[in-house]
Amino acid sequence: MDIGERRQGNILVLAPVGRIDNLTSAAFQARLLAAVTSSSADVVVDLSGVEYISSAGLRALMTASRQKPKEQRLAVACLQTVVREIFAISRFSHIVPVFATVEEASTAWRAPPRPGSAVLHAEPEPAGPLRVRFWGTRGSLPAPLRERAVRAKIRDALLAARGHALETEQAIDGFIDSKLPFSVRGTFGGNTSCVEIITGGDEYVICDLGTGMREFGNHVLRVHGPVRKHCFNVFLSHPHWDHIMGFPFFAPAYIPGNRIRIYGCHDVLGEALHTQHSSPCFPVDFRKLPSTIEFITLEPDRTYEIAGLSVTSIRQLHTGDSYGYRFSQGGKSIVYSTDCEHKYSSLDESYPFIAFYRNADLLIFDAMYSLGDTISVKEDWGHSSNVVAVELAHAAQVKRLVLFHHEPAYDDRMIEEVSAETIRFEEISRPGHRVEVISAYDGLELEL
Ligand SMILES: [Zn+2]
Ligand SMILES: [Zn+2]
Repeated sequence: MDIGERRQGNILVLAPVGRIDNLTSAAFQARLLAAVTSSSADVVVDLSGVEYISSAGLRALMTASRQKPKEQRLAVACLQTVVREIFAISRFSHIVPVFATVEEASTAWRAPPRPGSAVLHAEPEPAGPLRVRFWGTRGSLPAPLRERAVRAKIRDALLAARGHALETEQAIDGFIDSKLPFSVRGTFGGNTSCVEIITGGDEYVICDLGTGMREFGNHVLRVHGPVRKHCFNVFLSHPHWDHIMGFPFFAPAYIPGNRIRIYGCHDVLGEALHTQHSSPCFPVDFRKLPSTIEFITLEPDRTYEIAGLSVTSIRQLHTGDSYGYRFSQGGKSIVYSTDCEHKYSSLDESYPFIAFYRNADLLIFDAMYSLGDTISVKEDWGHSSNVVAVELAHAAQVKRLVLFHHEPAYDDRMIEEVSAETIRFEEISRPGHRVEVISAYDGLELEL
């Protein structure tokens, strides 16, 4: 292929003509590599004479971008419409910068970098009262919304909109927020257990590593960028799959300098996480993860000071055992108690969970099944019901009860129904002390 060459100020401009595809990309790559390795000048590829570029041509650009010295710059300019579309479809401007003209590249490279431009969205967590953020609230396995469910929501919203004046965007937003139930305007979400406790300190605190962990990790990178290093304190209830399956997709684990401390009362947590990362199920061996990961075994019923919180654990009835955690700071307490079956026969004042939950500001509780199910077909399956949740919350004088570990077979409407029934049951069974009842959803944030 014909590749023109010229100097424009300090920039070396290459100007290929024709198509860059399987037939011509080798010649293009050879010319490009010679340009970036033989001189220290910045290089712009003027694509005004190129009518088409295939993946082979894009790969040649990437190879040059990888092999050039770090301080040398490489860009493309003057893209024809079709080539510009191919760059957009391939998301290639993240790899090689695209400019409208060679002059524009030259001007951009002369300008000093803007201060703070390295971090994309700096919005660090404000210090202040304890907060809880739910990243995953589903039990047993992820439960994504299906096409039929989205269609049903749109249909319900349109039916509800009949007769309302919705001429402006403001009116539409107001209608969505005030007239549509949560099950229509939103979703409880489908990620499995992962709850963040925001302490106002420098270190992160997380309960369980379900699939919500992937979104939590991406959030940390979005807020701080990949350069800043962090310490993550993870408290595992137990190593059942739904509580660990998000960890292989937790991006900060792949960044050297990050520290991840995994606390729990089982002595098999390390083995469970290593196994999950091993061949043939996952391509990256746990031992190859570049972050520093430690496992710390806790003794149940003992109180530890970790990341500015007092933390106590309790053994729970569940296949292979699970553990609940009580976190306290500045007179406020959060209890995370999931994957626990409370046998109906044992719920009297001597039941140890009443003391463990006592006066908690927030009780996050496994209310996966109905009471009917937990004492019939699903007895000994290791989970509890909304009815027992309310009874225990009343007995322990808990302030707020959060229904958690939602049954994956329930759709949004069903979870909303269970939530309304639980609020009603709290009213009719109230012994005097009122408990506020909330259903957790992915994205819910609560302040204590
Ligand atoms: Zn579970
Ligand atoms: Zn479990």
